[in-house]
Amino acid sequence: MNPTTPDRSDAASEAGPERYYGARKRLFIGLITGTSVILCTILLLVWAIPSIGLANIHPALPYVSGFFMLSLILLIAWAALGLVLNIVKGRPVLGTSRIRGLTIKLFLPLMVMLARFFGIPKEKVRHSFIRVNNELIRGETGRFNPDEILILTPHCLQNSNCPVRLTYNVDRCKRCGSCPIGDLIALRDHYGV
Ligand code: SF4
Repeated sequence: MNPTTPDRSDAASEAGPERYYGARKRLFIGLITGTSVILCTILLLVWAIPSIGLANIHPALPYVSGFFMLSLILLIAWAALGLVLNIVKGRPVLGTSRIRGLTIKLFLPLMVMLARFFGIPKEKVRHSFIRVNNELIRGETGRFNPDEILILTPHCLQNSNCPVRLTYNVDRCKRCGSCPIGDLIALRDHYGV
């Protein structure tokens, strides 16, 4: 295995539902599909209803508003489909990767509302989102030289009973095996990251 690239098969096997409190990707996929269908239907209705009256103001108005709404519908469908295919295929598709963050930001609150309607707890949706987001980010990782990689870890990884203070010098760790710090230092030394 190339030392600069993570083993994808290992990453995939580690990313099972048990790591995300039993959350499954299909919950996220189902909710985003449901949310986009509801949004598109609402937009379709928002366009159709006033159109009946708009024609009385100007004969071209129904077409102008129809074009605007249709563009919005296509935009939502494209963003949602791109995100779902990205999740399923594990790589960006349809050129939607740039607006992925925005899509999730817009959809997530609506998905939580939809889930609540079906009696699905908010936490379950969030765990599913975290799992999906982690896998999307993993799917985008490229190849990097060791000197381009920085290991950042939370302080709480250190065993709370450890008397060694690592804040200013992580090499003070005795590598006693009581917490993952020693292994992380070994990774650093092995790969030169
Ligand atoms: S591995 Fe290092 S940081 Fe962790 S408990 Fe041992 S000496 Fe402390």
